[in-house]
Amino acid sequence: QETFSSNIFETRESEVRSYSRGWPAIFTTAKGAWLTDRDGKQYLDFFAGAGALNYGHNNPILKAALLDYIESDGITHGLDMSTVAKGEFLQTFQDKILAPRGLDYKVQFPGPTGTNAVESALKLARKVTGRTSIINFTNAFHGMTLGSLSVTGNSMKRAGAGIPLVHATPMPFDNYFDGVVEDFSWFERVLDDSGSGLNRPAAVIVETVQGEGGVNVARPEWLQALAELCKRREILLIVDDVQMGCGRTGPFFSFEIAGIQPDIVTLSKSIGGYGMPMALTLFKPELDVWGPGEHNGTFRGNNPAFVTAKRAIEEYWSDDTFEKEVIAKGERIRDFFISLCSAHQGISTRGRGMVQGLVFEDADAAAKVCGLAYDRGLLAETSGPSDEVVKLLPPLTITNEELDQGLAILGQATAEVLN
Ligand code: PMP
Repeated sequence: QETFSSNIFETRESEVRSYSRGWPAIFTTAKGAWLTDRDGKQYLDFFAGAGALNYGHNNPILKAALLDYIESDGITHGLDMSTVAKGEFLQTFQDKILAPRGLDYKVQFPGPTGTNAVESALKLARKVTGRTSIINFTNAFHGMTLGSLSVTGNSMKRAGAGIPLVHATPMPFDNYFDGVVEDFSWFERVLDDSGSGLNRPAAVIVETVQGEGGVNVARPEWLQALAELCKRREILLIVDDVQMGCGRTGPFFSFEIAGIQPDIVTLSKSIGGYGMPMALTLFKPELDVWGPGEHNGTFRGNNPAFVTAKRAIEEYWSDDTFEKEVIAKGERIRDFFISLCSAHQGISTRGRGMVQGLVFEDADAAAKVCGLAYDRGLLAETSGPSDEVVKLLPPLTITNEELDQGLAILGQATAEVLN
């Protein structure tokens, strides 16, 4: 027997609610790639907490580690105290993630969630360089607090806050001009223009694939050219890997495909592994100019999340098996989308690894497809500047059978909407 009134969500929850609006079900339990609602109906989850559930709901391996930790009265809240759970996470992150990739980063726990990592990255870049302005990109998304919102290139999202607080200049993301811009000479000219130009920014912040922005994929050469330019001009390069990190595009860090080493990297969403809040800001050791207490917050030491984060790294990132599986499943989605696109007019596809988008001509068609999919037990969301892209982010641990089942629902819904 439920102990809440059936209209409590309508009467008491703020209108600011977003994703869940298209999904009126009230959900109860979840396992792997599946959610169950209170009527017992099951839904395949191709949204996965917007990328926070790369290892699926209630992953049994992570659950066992978490239950052991709780049973042993392990510390839950530790602020920034040194705890065994934190030490073991840091050691595992160093040994299995950073060292094998030849990466040397210091690790900061900036707060519970992605936007906290972005805020600390922006603050650090400004402190290190003594400069204030930031370059961001068209259609970027970096978070909803005032600093990260200032570098979010989506005016609808910014509308709630008015003008940017951080001085940010949006530049065209890769392929903004349909591939016409092949180098950054235009960027250099703007940098050099002392009259009306950029006046040397502190940092450039970029996603390798823009998730919220509509699955816009930066080519490795574009990322390399950007990294080279930043290095030459002594501008710090921040890669925001909050959504595309932790294997979403295949490798653990999404920038590995370009062979670059950003100065600062943000991680959150799936880093905790079990869907619990955790965020990291990584930066090159020489950038560690923070003084004690210059960026703190109460919920930086989520020790149960350290435990599941460590276990997830051990289980999935001790060798390259998982990465290969992710790439193979990504190709499975892509092949399906390519055949769907050749069967129907008015759609196209783009993506990398297990973030794949189906691009419709308008938001109405994309919303209808997601609505039909929901009715048939598939959760998928739209993204993009006008919500015209159906973005798939299934758990990376999903089976091929589950993937095919969900894709079949999506294919059917697309055919019905477009025919
Ligand atoms: N950066 C990127 C690239 C994101 O996709 C998001 C969340 N969608 C954020 C930052 C903000 O993370 P959070 O919602 O956890 O604050």
